[in-house]
Amino acid sequence: MEIKIEKAKVLKQKPDFTKLGFGKYFTDHMFVMDYSSKEGWHDAKIVPFDYIPVHPASTVLHYGVEIFEGMKAYKTADGYQMFRPLENLKRMNDSAERLCLPEFDGDDFIEALTTLITLDYDWIPDQPGTSLYIRPFMIGNDEALGVHPVHNAKFFIILSPVGNYYAEGLNPVKISIENQDVRAVRGGTGYAKCGGNYAASLRAGKRAEEMGFTQVLWLDGVERKYIEEVGAMNVMFKIDGEIYTPELTGSVLPGITRKSCIEILRSWGYKVSETLISVDDLLEATENGKLEEAWGTGTAAVVSPIGHLFYDGKDHVISNNQIGELTQKLYDELTGIQWGKVEDKRNWCLKVKV
Ligand SMILES: *Cc1c(COP(=O)(O)O)cnc(C)c1O
Repeated sequence: MEIKIEKAKVLKQKPDFTKLGFGKYFTDHMFVMDYSSKEGWHDAKIVPFDYIPVHPASTVLHYGVEIFEGMKAYKTADGYQMFRPLENLKRMNDSAERLCLPEFDGDDFIEALTTLITLDYDWIPDQPGTSLYIRPFMIGNDEALGVHPVHNAKFFIILSPVGNYYAEGLNPVKISIENQDVRAVRGGTGYAKCGGNYAASLRAGKRAEEMGFTQVLWLDGVERKYIEEVGAMNVMFKIDGEIYTPELTGSVLPGITRKSCIEILRSWGYKVSETLISVDDLLEATENGKLEEAWGTGTAAVVSPIGHLFYDGKDHVISNNQIGELTQKLYDELTGIQWGKVEDKRNWCLKVKV
């Protein structure tokens, strides 16, 4: 793939890397590539980060044909590394298939990422807990109002230096179990990382926030009985010494952090069951003291302890609202691998020298 590079004439002033928050600042450049059914993927370029012209009838604006990925690059002594980037590409292509968007090539994906990140290398923060968040996304871009699979698409990569996802840091979060709205149903788009899923989730998130909760925990869309996942995280529970996480039924997003945690936990000798977990069983385990720890997993927060579960007017405290021992160990192991401080036995990181 040939990437045309147009460098920014004036570089932006970098933010204070100790006060980054999440997704508020963007680097100097972005990657853009076009697709048409006639030409396939073409015209790869890196340009100064800027507004993008979009036709008022563009498919994405009307029918929400959009998919995205979320991944991170971490600064190392001689460059940077990315965590399992080809897993993101694989998932992006699964999302693309679901929304009738074109698939993207793996080698081109890696080349686009490394060319862009290397160019904006100085934007990778090096404070503990920080990283460069990478947001690849694709939009359907036909300039007509008919509802049909698109013939034109655009693919972008933008970069954002980030600190901790939650203002609370690694403190336990308060979660409300949602019993009105649902995020996804089987046969729908739950397993795809597409914008529409988030649009559908906002109302419940807003209600939960107004009541003092950080996020909602979704139940399945049909029976509203089985645990699915948290806002942008999968969930895991340690019950009576074993680990349980909702199985991937099609309405749950197949998280790469989830997959990695399962592999690590099994290598530590834990029994991990991917299964249906009913909310009643979970709350019973909470009440009789068998639920030892609960945490969310996702690229943004990595591993996030859950301290409160609220359901049907009742608040259930987990592990005394403290970070559980295993949650902490898992966080340390995974972030250790990602930051290059723990041996990467499984070759998960793609290392790039700068
Ligand atoms: C992205 C996402 C996750 C976490 O996936 P990771 O690959 O671990 O970052 C979980 N749930 C939803 C709904 C998501 O969008």
